[in-house]
Amino acid sequence: MIPTIPYIQSRFDDFNARFFGGALPPVPIRLSHAKGFLGKLTFTRRKQGLFGQYRNENFVLRINTRIDLPEPLIEDTILHEMIHYYIAVNQLRDTSSHGRLFRREMARINADGNRHITISYRLSKEQLLELYPEKKEQIEAYFLRKSKKSSTFAQN
Ligand SMILES: [Zn+2]
Repeated sequence: MIPTIPYIQSRFDDFNARFFGGALPPVPIRLSHAKGFLGKLTFTRRKQGLFGQYRNENFVLRINTRIDLPEPLIEDTILHEMIHYYIAVNQLRDTSSHGRLFRREMARINADGNRHITISYRLSKEQLLELYPEKKEQIEAYFLRKSKKSSTFAQN
């Protein structure tokens, strides 16, 4: 399916109530036709205070509409970005972009909700061709060479 803003908003509200105690503040949602990610949370880090602390603000949650994906994968992508949002909006510090805190939350939600959130997804040849039609030759050659059924696709 190709998600719409009302769909993403309704999933965000449901997941917020179910997995975050309804504590996440509303976030602007945008659809993106950009390449290279399925979902992405962007925000700015503003320096604040005498001691150089940073404050995260101006959050935008982006979900890609370039590629037709199964609904559970879209939901897991929304959840993945919501974990980034939970960490950033609470001004928490993780050990890396998908560090201990991210992985702890991912494990908690996967267990509680029987979800399959990951930090990278395997995309099929057909999905890659849909995402990068101009790279058809390279994609065909890649799958011919490797005899692979899918390719790892990093999640932002
Ligand atoms: Zn991520």
